[in-house]
Amino acid sequence: MNISVPLNDLRAEYHSIRAAVDARIQEVIDTSSFIGGANVAGFEDAFADYCGAAHAVFCSSGTSAIYIALKALEIGPDDEVITVSHTFIATVEAISLTGAVPVLIDVDRETGLLDHRQLAGAVTKRTRAIIPVHLYGHPVNWDPIQRIADQHNIPLIEDAAQAVGAVFHDRKIGSLGAMACFSFFPGKNLGAYGDAGMITTQNATYAANMKRFLNHGRISKYAHETIGFNLRGDAMQAAILHAKLPSLDSWNACRRRNAETYRQELQDVSVQVLCEAENVVPVYHQFVLLSEHREALQDFLHSHGIATGIHYPIPVHLQPAYQSLGYGKGDFPGTEYLADRILSIPVYPFLTKEQIQYVVDTIHLFFRK
Ligand SMILES: *Cc1c(COP(=O)(O)O)cnc(C)c1O
Repeated sequence: MNISVPLNDLRAEYHSIRAAVDARIQEVIDTSSFIGGANVAGFEDAFADYCGAAHAVFCSSGTSAIYIALKALEIGPDDEVITVSHTFIATVEAISLTGAVPVLIDVDRETGLLDHRQLAGAVTKRTRAIIPVHLYGHPVNWDPIQRIADQHNIPLIEDAAQAVGAVFHDRKIGSLGAMACFSFFPGKNLGAYGDAGMITTQNATYAANMKRFLNHGRISKYAHETIGFNLRGDAMQAAILHAKLPSLDSWNACRRRNAETYRQELQDVSVQVLCEAENVVPVYHQFVLLSEHREALQDFLHSHGIATGIHYPIPVHLQPAYQSLGYGKGDFPGTEYLADRILSIPVYPFLTKEQIQYVVDTIHLFFRK
């Protein structure tokens, strides 16, 4: 019996909220207010509230969110920004685009997240920001990072692209750093019907700088105070995301339930799963297995109709695009250990019990062979 299990099912999600989304889309077209306006402002307010942040600034993507946050700190050439090698390349690209030098560090192989023990040694006089990544929807261990950053007076920017709705010690992701950057890429936990992103902050000056920068440095229609760019998010995406926001917590709860089922059912199989820290609420953007037999397991699952992913098979420090940074194989053992073993299996909210059981059974079957 072959059941098909995709890595995500955006159509099932749409059908669960179709009336609300369709109404908002029609309303945007009826009012024909496509750029800025009430839909963008309304979603920014709702999202800031959701994250426990004072301000939210809507923009064109998660990648531009990180770029905009760095520009608000006036980071540029001669500056350094520290982040992890085990992330989606966008985190590092945004640093490069400012002209600053990305300084990469290793992750903890038990969690896949920034290893604060590697952080202090990477800080120099030129370090202007640190970007911890809440990868897979797991909040990074924030307090030791904050302590090191505070010692050197360096602002922290959360890369929260995969962690919307997650909680660290009773604090919502998006309210921990000087700024936090979110992606609404369609496959993220809160997905647009196109590209979109958001930056949250408690700081009114940062928020004003970011709003101006992403809209041509404008202070009024024809007055441009600084050199900016067009990195705006559009009203259609804001309206759709606003309609979806009330469902996010229940979708994230489904992801956690699915993850818990995998944890229980895969205990007696020789795969490792990334560990969940104490006192956090993760949101399982991905559910990640570790196996010495990753390629064979992946082939086996694919041949049984189960989609999987690898996030990410080539760490940033080994990417051809980043050869100029001068890193090489062996520089980040935790990152490379994970890159060779990780496998993401379906964990999206609309998985049926039968599909999850089928994934579990198929993994058991693989390890019995
Ligand atoms: C998705 C993602 C981004 C970039 O977001 P886009 O909206 O695709 O530009 C940045 N960082 C991480 C960790 C991501 O997963």
